[in-house]
Amino acid sequence: MIPVNEPLIGPNEIKYVLECLQTGWISSEGHFIREFEDHWAAYCGMQYGITVSNGTVALQIAVACLDLDSGDEVIMPTFTIISCAQAITMIGAKPVLVDADPGTWCMDVEQVKSKISSRTRAIMPVHIYGHPVDMDPILALARKHNLIVIEDAAEAHGAEYKGRKCGGLGDLNCFSFYANKIITTGEGGMVLTNNAAYAERMRSLRNLCFQKERRFYHTELGNNFRLTNLQAAIGLAQLERIEDSVRKKRLMGHAYTDRLKGIPVLQLPAEESWAKNVYWMYGIVLDDGTGMDAVEFARRLYAKGVMTRPFFLGMHEQPVFQKKRLFHGERYPVAERIARQGLYLPSGIAITEDQIDQSCAAVKQVLGY
Ligand SMILES: *Cc1c(COP(=O)(O)O)cnc(C)c1O
Repeated sequence: MIPVNEPLIGPNEIKYVLECLQTGWISSEGHFIREFEDHWAAYCGMQYGITVSNGTVALQIAVACLDLDSGDEVIMPTFTIISCAQAITMIGAKPVLVDADPGTWCMDVEQVKSKISSRTRAIMPVHIYGHPVDMDPILALARKHNLIVIEDAAEAHGAEYKGRKCGGLGDLNCFSFYANKIITTGEGGMVLTNNAAYAERMRSLRNLCFQKERRFYHTELGNNFRLTNLQAAIGLAQLERIEDSVRKKRLMGHAYTDRLKGIPVLQLPAEESWAKNVYWMYGIVLDDGTGMDAVEFARRLYAKGVMTRPFFLGMHEQPVFQKKRLFHGERYPVAERIARQGLYLPSGIAITEDQIDQSCAAVKQVLGY
């Protein structure tokens, strides 16, 4: 069986974690935390890094910085993970959706403009499966309408938009370091910002809003969203190898494309001229004309030893939001189609050329090419 993802753990991960264990710095105090924050921020061209326990809460504390009132709106793609929408709904604000771009599967930036209202406070672009969102039009709209940009770059470590790093373009830029992300800490996340006040606010929110001068005196409620020094140690070691990891991911992406590009019933990942795709996951979308959907395609690939994962189901199709009467009657045809016809192939950083060959052979057999 070829797994969808396997992490690659190197000798420095082990060495740094051992240092934590041997010195006793195993909680969220310790030098690896600050180093991981500073180095990741620098890598992305940002000033402050605030580590947290996962990418979901990274989005949560980033959104919390905006002090949204109920009814305030944040424009985001329907085609993304639930974490993005729930960071907005859980504080009573309203996600306003746009469809996916049929080529990149990222938010359709053309649709953002028409969704701006007097209640819009922020835009949340999400770089999907390693391909950047077309950020310039979003940044221009944000400047014009005085909106905050919250980037979700969980799937785009090392990806670039016009030569600038994803996660270095918005006001509050969120990352996950879950085990299947390009840099992993097992579980983990971070928010980057250039705004010192946001940075301080988020450091407080992740740490129960303890105060510096009077620790157990609270003027606001926070959470324990702290990352441990052990996890940051792994992250720092992973970060030392990021260029190599990004190179490996791109080789993987190109190897798949080389082998699959002749199959007319498959849509392969895009790489726009302004983009550096890091192929976080190698997604493919099956033509409707095949009479097969992604569920059936995945079942047949599994029978040939290839594990896959389905694409996201759009936020407007989620029962949990339909129950709340959110997005009632809204349709996003691109997201609806790729949710049904898309899946991703084994794409881990540890994947071998042999495994890519086997995956592609299975795809070809199932499709009869
Ligand atoms: C993985 C991911 C998250 C959530 O991160 P967790 O660490 O799993 O909570 C958020 N956004 C996107 C786009 C992701 O891919």
